[in-house]
Parts: sequence; C-alpha cells; structure tokens
Amino acid sequence: MSRTIKLYKLQSIDTDIDRRRLMLAKIAKLMEGNSDVANAKALLDKATDASKAAEKERDDIRFERQQVEAKRTASDKRLYSGNVKDPKEMQDLQALIQSLGAHLETLEDRQLVVMEEVDVVNAKLAEAQAAYDKVRNAFATEQSKLAAKKTSLESDVEKLRKARVGADAALSPDDKKRYMKLRKLKKGIAVTLIKDGACSSCGSSLASAELQRARSAADLTACPTCGRIMHF
Ligand SMILES: [Zn+2]
Repeated sequence: MSRTIKLYKLQSIDTDIDRRRLMLAKIAKLMEGNSDVANAKALLDKATDASKAAEKERDDIRFERQQVEAKRTASDKRLYSGNVKDPKEMQDLQALIQSLGAHLETLEDRQLVVMEEVDVVNAKLAEAQAAYDKVRNAFATEQSKLAAKKTSLESDVEKLRKARVGADAALSPDDKKRYMKLRKLKKGIAVTLIKDGACSSCGSSLASAELQRARSAADLTACPTCGRIMHF
C-alpha cells in the first residue's frame, strides 16, 4: 500500500468521525430543550391563572348573594311575623330590606358580567391547552427521533474508532506526525484527493507539469495552494 493511500485511509476515517461528532453536538443542543414548549407552557399557566381568578370571583359573588338573600328572607319573615310592634324597629327593618334588595341587584349585575368573563377566559384556556399539547407532542416526537439518530451515530463512531486503530498503526511515525500537524492547521483535512486535476479541498487546479511531477515524486507532495498532502 502506498504511503498516500494509508494516509488517505486514515483521513477518510477521521473525516467520517468528525462529521458524526458534529452531528452529535447538534443533536445534544436540540435535545437540551425547546423554547416553543416553554413559551406555550408560560401562556398556558397565564390562562390557567386567569381562569382560576375569574371562577373564584364568580363563586365569591354567588356566595355573597346567598348570604344577602338569606338575610333579606329572615328580615322579611321578622317584619311580617307580627312580633315587631315598635314602629322604630319596623322602620329600621324596612330600610334594611330595601338596602339588601339594592345590594342584591348590584350583585346580580356583577354576576352576569363575571359569568361572561369566565366564559371568555375558559375559551382562552382551552386554546392555550390545545396549543401547548400540540407543541409538546411535536417536541416528544422530535426527541424520540433525535434519540434514535444519536444511538445510530454513536454506534458508527465506535466502529470507526476501531477501524482507526489499524489505519493509524499502518503509518510511519514521521507520516503520522505530519498528518496530525496538518490536521490541526487545515481544519481537520490533512490529506486531499486530487480529482480531475484539481484539489478536492481547496478547489484549485494543478498544471499538468505539476501533476506529472507530483505523481512521479518519491516523497509526499503538497497541494501548491492549500498545502495538504495530495493523494491521487
Ligand atoms: Zn488544495
């Protein structure tokens, strides 16, 4: 096996590993959390609070109405019981009954308004719940897809790492050193494939004399433009 074939083999494995690691990093970020779900949850919490507040007000008014009605009934009963003889007390009772009646009217009006409010906020709550369920389900589906993809990529990386051990051992110490140095300097690509007379990494074309020289050279040759080791 020629030197550049061995180098290119290691490069191909490293490139495959790099690609998968990049994808795994993206997946890890996507699996961290989702702002759509958090936003929908915040809206749902707000709608829930509004609904609870409106329903509490409705119930409070209902309770107050019952209290006032009971008091008016009792006062009515006492007024017409025949037991009240004192004109002052009679007058006071009549005044009280009148004021309770006015209070009840106010409460009834308020009750109608609040019942409408309850309908409105509960409709909004149902909408917020549906929206939240939708994004949460979409997120869950997405998560299980990502988890499957992650497992598959991790198993690929494991296989590639095993293959890399053999490819790495096949290189001479000098070639390995040069490869590692170029990997660091050239964004992970130390060995470039020359295809149709052009460097597949930087895209520059090589003159036929240059190609001729490179092919017949005894030592490794570098792309004149990007400096990567050329493999034909
Ligand atoms: Zn190049």
